[in-house]
Amino acid sequence: MMQRGKICQGQKCARCRQTIQSDPAFDDDLWYHRSCLEEGQRALQRAQELATRFRLESARTLTPRRRPVASSLRDAASQEQ
Ligand SMILES: [Zn+2]
Repeated sequence: MMQRGKICQGQKCARCRQTIQSDPAFDDDLWYHRSCLEEGQRALQRAQELATRFRLESARTLTPRRRPVASSLRDAASQEQ
């Protein structure tokens, strides 16, 4: 029957932890199902895009605090009296 794939016999996918029986993919010293590897690369790409967008947005919306913490503490204290 199938000869290919013997090299990874008994290997477990580094992403989903299932034994790889077909469609092996080797990356970064780890075995994956080919579909898992592709999914992982897509997820990584999405995460990097999100991280870039988040950094840009937080830099843009980073404004000075409207009032110092001390004054809001004083407000809270005066309300207690
Ligand atoms: Zn997998």
